[in-house]
Amino acid sequence: MTHRSALRPKSQSKKDFIPRIARGDIIFCLGYSEPNAGSDLASLQTRATEKGDNYIINGQKIWCSYAHYADYCWLGAITDPEAPKHRNMSMFVVDMKNPGITVRPLINVIGCHSFNEVFFDDVLTPKESLIGVKENGWFQLAMALDFERSGVQTAAANRLILDHMIKYAKNNKRNGRLISEDPIMRNLMAEMAIEIEVARMLCYRIAWIYSKGGHSNYESSEAMIFGSELLRRISDAGMRVLGQYGQLEFGSHRAIGTAEMCRSYLAALSIGVGGGTNEIQRNIIAMRGLGLPRK
Ligand SMILES: Cc1cc2nc3c(=O)[nH]c(=O)nc-3n(C[C@H](O)[C@H](O)[C@H](O)COP(=O)(O)OP(=O)(O)OC[C@H]3O[C@@H](n4cnc5c(N)ncnc54)[C@H](O)[C@@H]3O)c2cc1C
Repeated sequence: MTHRSALRPKSQSKKDFIPRIARGDIIFCLGYSEPNAGSDLASLQTRATEKGDNYIINGQKIWCSYAHYADYCWLGAITDPEAPKHRNMSMFVVDMKNPGITVRPLINVIGCHSFNEVFFDDVLTPKESLIGVKENGWFQLAMALDFERSGVQTAAANRLILDHMIKYAKNNKRNGRLISEDPIMRNLMAEMAIEIEVARMLCYRIAWIYSKGGHSNYESSEAMIFGSELLRRISDAGMRVLGQYGQLEFGSHRAIGTAEMCRSYLAALSIGVGGGTNEIQRNIIAMRGLGLPRK
């Protein structure tokens, strides 16, 4: 069987994919988590078995964000079932149009379809779709997670929520005076502004580490924890500034300019889980940042 694929030989893959990702021409989803492998990702069971010029992939992934839009999946799969954990898996770029891939939606707490289950049933992918070094996948994946955890997206979201709060406070009254004149609400917003700056600096530190040719590891975990927990604090503060209006969803005639707060309050539940939970990040900081024993 000849296999149609847009994939290029390994040496070409960075040049080929990265500019197209950056331009938004193609979308990737991340195929890491499985029903029985989340925090303990090295327990993943998806298999990639060599056959001629191809691998045949079988298994199930879960929580794959935006897999329903994705052109490719950055997938972790076992290539040597005899090898111990951490030494048995490889990373692949799999074309999502391949026959045998089924994407099933999972709807989250805000009624949004971002998560998916993805099933791989005898999916044929050419050998060159294995990226990097065979059975070195755990280390490639861990490095990619260090980038994901840098948390710059959360720092930006935090600032946006504060901007919503400030705008609302300047334009709305409670008990006959502008909310922006209430000393408790002013202090609350000032406090959030300080914390947002701290989150931003933690992200800049990571950019600085990379600019010096280094690699950010526990520093990324620190940024992820601080930024994600700040998102929860700031969403909570937003609810106080908006009062009852903070609970109104899009579509309510009274929800003008307030529904974003309701969404971010609920969505904050999942921040601090994606990319590895904050408990796992604390473990990383304890081990790699503080040199404490593994257990
Ligand atoms: C918004 C969002 C987007 C996501 N996108 C993707 C995606 O695109 N692709 C993908 O593959 N996955 C994705 N995920 C899944 C995410 O990576 C997993 O949910 C996460 O790694 C946790 O795994 P789990 O859900 O199986 O929880 P479990 O591993 O079952 O953990 C359950 C609880 O036990 C705690 N726990 C487990 N082990 C330890 C330990 N050793 N020490 C202390 N506490 C521990 C955890 O912190 C957690 O509170 C996403 C998740 C979210 C919320």
